[in-house]
This record gives sequence, structure tokens and C-alpha cells, in this order.
Amino acid sequence: MSFSLKNKSAILFDMDGVLYDSMPNHSKAWSQAMARFGMHMTPHDVYLNEGATGHDTVMRISLRDRGIEATAGEIDEIYGYKAQLFRSMPEAKVMPGAKEVFRKAAAAGLRILIVTGSGQKNLIERVQKDFEGYITRDRMVTAFEVTRGKPYPDPYLKGLEIAGVPATDAVVVENAPLGIRAAVAAGIDTIAVNTGPLEDEILMVEKPVLLFHSMQELADNIGSLFA
Ligand code: MG
Repeated sequence: MSFSLKNKSAILFDMDGVLYDSMPNHSKAWSQAMARFGMHMTPHDVYLNEGATGHDTVMRISLRDRGIEATAGEIDEIYGYKAQLFRSMPEAKVMPGAKEVFRKAAAAGLRILIVTGSGQKNLIERVQKDFEGYITRDRMVTAFEVTRGKPYPDPYLKGLEIAGVPATDAVVVENAPLGIRAAVAAGIDTIAVNTGPLEDEILMVEKPVLLFHSMQELADNIGSLFA
């Protein structure tokens, strides 16, 4: 592999589908919430839109299914209901291999940050406990820190600002096409982990430097990337 982590000083992780196996829950919650408002969101739609804000997701599906924009009231109602459904679901497990990746990245001296489009307060709280010693709230960019979500580069640019490093010194770990697009648009080398049902090609067109199929596979290979 020609890509190296040797000169990197910060690693920015997406959260859903990277640190937590939470996408199946998001998928069910979105599909049920949209159905209540007469719109149809398949798991494929959910994975394709992953990383976008709730606002942008509802707007995109509304335009597609109804040919009209969703009102601000509808968006609040749908996203509020979706978040409520998500909270009622069984707790998503930490992604196998994620803690090992954190441990190895920290041992190599990389600064660790989380950059997520999530506004799920419970998961934002929980990640600080599950990854204690590696992450604190001031090292996280969430839906509450930016106005424009992924695929805009804003969340990752904010992450670079917090890390205090230029884009060339950072690396991103992302599972979603829009997330990879956001990170690449911020000028950051991005490692894709395809942990969902999308074809590799859908992630590869966004130009990640590498693609793995699980966090465990990244954990098994990250050592060689420092060589
Ligand atoms: Mg994700």
C-alpha cells in the first residue's frame, strides 16, 4: 500500500457505522418515521443519505416522493419522531475493532477526534464513556457545532480547526458516501470502511485513499500503515 500514516498527526472518526453498529437502528427509525408522513425510505436510501443532517434528508426524500419541499414544521416533526424511535431501540453495540483502532492510533501519537452529523444526544454522551481516555466532548464535532452538515466540508473543517492541524496532516475514517465526500472536500485523506450494504463502488467514486470492509480489518492493518 502506498498510502502512509507516518506523517499524520490527527485522526478524525465518523461515529455511526464506524464506532457504533448503529446504522440498522437508524435505518428502521427513518423508514418508520417517513412512512407515517406518506414517504418511502428504503435501507438503501438511508445508507445513501447517511451523514446528512435530518433537515437535508427529509427535504431530499420529500422532493423525490412528493415533488414538494417539506415545511420546517414537518421536518421538525419527522426528525423528532425518528429520533424518538431511535432512542427506543436496543442499544447499538460498539463496532468490533473500533477500540483497537483507537488504541493503536493513540499509541502512534495521533490526536483523536470524532466528526459526526449526529444530533442524538444519548449516543453523543455514550461515546465519551465507551471511548473514555481517548475522547472528550471538546474533541467532537456534532450536529450542534455546524450549520451545514455532510457532504459539505464544514464538519471536517471544524474538526481540523479543533485538532489544530492542516488537512494534509490529518486522516479521516468514514463509512458513508456523503461523509467521504465531505472529508475529501475538506482536503483530507480518507479511509473508507464499508460496514453497510452499499456496493464498494458507491464509496470508491468519492475517492477514498483506501477501503476496508470492517473496523476489525482496519485494526489488523493500521500497524502496517505507520511503517
Ligand atoms: Mg457513518
